[in-house]
Amino acid sequence: SKPSYKWRRVLLKVSGEALAGDQLQNIDPKITMAIAREVATVTRLGIEVALVVGGGNIFRGSSWAGSSGLDRSSADYIGMLATVMNAIFLQATMESIGIPTRVQTAFRMSEVAEPYIRRRAVRHLEKGRVVIFAAGTGNPFFTTDTAAALRCAEINAEVVLKATNVDGVYDDDPRRNPHARLLDTLTYEEVTSKDLSVMDMTAITLCQENNIPVVVFNLNKPGNISKAIKGCFAKQGRSL
Ligand code: UDP
Repeated sequence: SKPSYKWRRVLLKVSGEALAGDQLQNIDPKITMAIAREVATVTRLGIEVALVVGGGNIFRGSSWAGSSGLDRSSADYIGMLATVMNAIFLQATMESIGIPTRVQTAFRMSEVAEPYIRRRAVRHLEKGRVVIFAAGTGNPFFTTDTAAALRCAEINAEVVLKATNVDGVYDDDPRRNPHARLLDTLTYEEVTSKDLSVMDMTAITLCQENNIPVVVFNLNKPGNISKAIKGCFAKQGRSL
């Protein structure tokens, strides 16, 4: 009989920063290939994988807004376009190793990718295709973490798996404070009250309201993405 895994359908959030690795270029093809390979192994097991990709490796609206007359909304639209670049790169990489992949954008770019259509996205997943959601929520003033929570709820995925450059959630920034402690499980309230930078507040509260667990893991360790998707890092019970 088929082995069963914790989740049937997952939402994997890959930040733009993670795609850059330690390269000077915006995207490290070794990283996109590693992601593609690991996603391939789990889709072969029958787990449905949807991705939300960030854009921070190319452009982050909040850090540009205000400078040289750029208003926040315009800056955020540029940021959303950056996520589309990452999505197309990831799609090309996935398809180069034979994973059928569709990109859906939150605003129309019909020559480049499908528009986001929830029922069509679900159909793709049911057929074993990977779906990459690009352009965030399609709205300025939001983040791709919020897009991850939103799309997860919409397509009835069971978990948001947040791939980062650190091992999980710390009580301080581990890159600055060598004594920062890795926290095991957290409630949504702990994240918001202690202002832990797991995700922004909009994303966290959206997960909380919809009982969506969030698993934070390090994408730089080989095998971690497929482990996360198989549920290896998830704790029992209703925790974050
Ligand atoms: N963005 C936006 N609305 C969204 C998602 C993203 O305006 O729903 C813009 C915003 O400017 C953001 C940029 O796109 O800074 C890139 O996304 P994000 O910072 O979330 O990427 P990540 O941190 O995951 O690389």
